[in-house]
Amino acid sequence: MVEMETIVSLCKRRGFIFQSSEIYGGFGGFWDYGPLGVELKNNVKRVWWLDMVNRREDMVGLDCAIVMNPRVWEASGHIEQFSDPMVDCRECKHRFRADDIPDEPCQVTGGEHDLTEARQFNLMFKTYVGPVEDDASTAYLRPETAQGIFANFDNVLTTMRKKLPFGIAQIGKAFRNEITPGNFIFRDREFEQMEIEFFVKPEDADEWLKRWVTERFEWYSSYGIRKDNLRLRQHDEDELAHYSKECWDIDYNFPMGWSELEGIANRGDYDLTQHATYSGQRLVYLDPETKEHIVPHVIEPSAGVDRSVLAFLIDAYHQEIVRKDKRTVLRLHPELAPVKVAVLPLARNRPPIVEMARKIAADLYKYMPAMYDDTASIGRLYRRQDEIGTPFCVTVDHQSAITDDEKYDGKVTIRERDSMEQIRVDASQVVQKLREQLEEGSKTL
Ligand SMILES: [Zn+2]
Repeated sequence: MVEMETIVSLCKRRGFIFQSSEIYGGFGGFWDYGPLGVELKNNVKRVWWLDMVNRREDMVGLDCAIVMNPRVWEASGHIEQFSDPMVDCRECKHRFRADDIPDEPCQVTGGEHDLTEARQFNLMFKTYVGPVEDDASTAYLRPETAQGIFANFDNVLTTMRKKLPFGIAQIGKAFRNEITPGNFIFRDREFEQMEIEFFVKPEDADEWLKRWVTERFEWYSSYGIRKDNLRLRQHDEDELAHYSKECWDIDYNFPMGWSELEGIANRGDYDLTQHATYSGQRLVYLDPETKEHIVPHVIEPSAGVDRSVLAFLIDAYHQEIVRKDKRTVLRLHPELAPVKVAVLPLARNRPPIVEMARKIAADLYKYMPAMYDDTASIGRLYRRQDEIGTPFCVTVDHQSAITDDEKYDGKVTIRERDSMEQIRVDASQVVQKLREQLEEGSKTL
């Protein structure tokens, strides 16, 4: 198992993830995605949306505002209940979650911390809407995307004419003022969620919970996460949120231990009932067969984008010895890899080689994220691409391009990342060949 520090260091060195506001010393619990990180993260979100929304008949999407009417958070219970017990050390001034006090001695007393009584600390970020800062203008940055879906249940139902069972999916930012953020992007204060609220007839809820648990577990492994590193865990009675009837976590074997990647909960009719009560609107479904109005029950698969990105990175990370050299390789699924192919000219001052490589790169850019790199020796260029998970490299050499070379063949080398297998193909065939390879998801050249 790779250490978290190794992943953090690779992410910084290769442009995946930086500390937010790093030139000002950073800002706890906030992270920035760099040029490769934003591609990886977008890819995770793109495949989730494709698989969960576009490729299903029973799902539609939504993109709600981050700041909503504060009544939403009264109805959902977040104003009342979304808090952690917090304690402060009177001596060293550190703040902890009362249920998560670290073992280390206090830096001031040298022994135990001198802790205050626990106080409830609401995790929602407050802001003000409009020019006056008072209680009446207080609003919140959403702590989850789910409530925007419930608040729009009737809008979606009437405009899309959906029949039960159907789901509404949303990807978006959420904010929690965590007392102790940590473990890199696992627990951050600004994060992204991929959430589904799946509405079903009450009697079908148990069956749909099972189906979603299976489906979501398989989804992670279909994009390369090893099943050994995934587990399902059912919440005990005393762990269940007040609205939840049954909940399962998909845990990943992170360097800090098994931790939640996604939760799948049976929320019953809690949310629609609450919003109906607080808004005074009827949030019901007219069953076309029985002509009865029912309040659908909800199954909620709720995944974290950032922690998924982290799990994909950790699972893809491999170190191996190749011809006495250490090779670091990210075996990312080709759909997730930030760059699909790198074009590497073997000489940067020989016009025929440069021209051919530039032409191939320009053709590739039309179809896939590609990169042109001539800034090091070929060995180092390969290492660099391996370390960012690029599935294919194309090299252009003397034999490819120099027509007065007696070995001239007009072919270039394609190298596959995991097997390091190499084949030579005609330069005009490169784009076609790579498009096929990526389409098939095949690793054998
Ligand atoms: Zn202390």
